[in-house]
Amino acid sequence: MRSYGPRKDVELPCGLPRAGDGLHRRATLTAMDGAAELAAADQSNPFFAAHLVLARCLCRLGARTEVDVEDVRRLLPIDRDFLLIELDRLTFGNRRYQTIRCPAADCRRRMDIEIDLSTIVASPSSPARQRELSLASGRAVRVRLPCAGDQEALFDAAADARAALLVARCLVGESEPAAALDAAEQVACALAIGNAAPRLDLALDLECPTCGGPFSHEYEPVRGLFGELRRSRSELLTEVHWLALHYHWSQAEILGLPRSLRREYLDLLERDRLARGQVER
Ligand SMILES: [Zn+2]
Repeated sequence: MRSYGPRKDVELPCGLPRAGDGLHRRATLTAMDGAAELAAADQSNPFFAAHLVLARCLCRLGARTEVDVEDVRRLLPIDRDFLLIELDRLTFGNRRYQTIRCPAADCRRRMDIEIDLSTIVASPSSPARQRELSLASGRAVRVRLPCAGDQEALFDAAADARAALLVARCLVGESEPAAALDAAEQVACALAIGNAAPRLDLALDLECPTCGGPFSHEYEPVRGLFGELRRSRSELLTEVHWLALHYHWSQAEILGLPRSLRREYLDLLERDRLARGQVER
């Protein structure tokens, strides 16, 4: 765990069940450092990248002060998404810019949109973690809500296999094994599990500047942050290169700096370079 860099206390919308009773809702984040940025940018699974970054940047999650990826995988996706948005704001600021396409089939024009992450709020909720589902055949199964780790595990799954895999992961207790359910029951179960999962309201009401058609766009915290980190990877390496060249710090030392501090050193170098240029003139 790092000891410096900006920190922020976050109240989780749903929280983690306590060993005895009740919920842990408190978490503390510290801004990303270069090591977290680089490790995430080099992954192919955006969910694993997000969980890796959160494990590195959570100084506290409920009762845990040494947070690992397994702790993050146990979070409900709504809590993981809210933590990612708060981490994104702490590291990169509130404004996010994206280029999207108009969804109208006869338009499909690209447009730039601005998202203010500070407007995303999460109300506390306490959904039942498990529930019984009645199948069309009259049988009942007991399922749990999917967690962040389920999304990570299913990221690469083929579309036609997802329902069966999700149900197999989420069946609990004395339920029938997933293989005992027919394909229609697996899909019905997967839909019910998905619908029961609480979500953040991330829908933006937009209007296409070309065709004028109104549409809704949903911000995706995992892909939003992952895209940001992949786009800025080469910039990060350039920054490491300049700091190493001038200060002779090791790569590990430079990557251990929070992004804001790294940028301050680069500003100092730039001011130095400009001042020297003026003297030489
Ligand atoms: Zn349009």
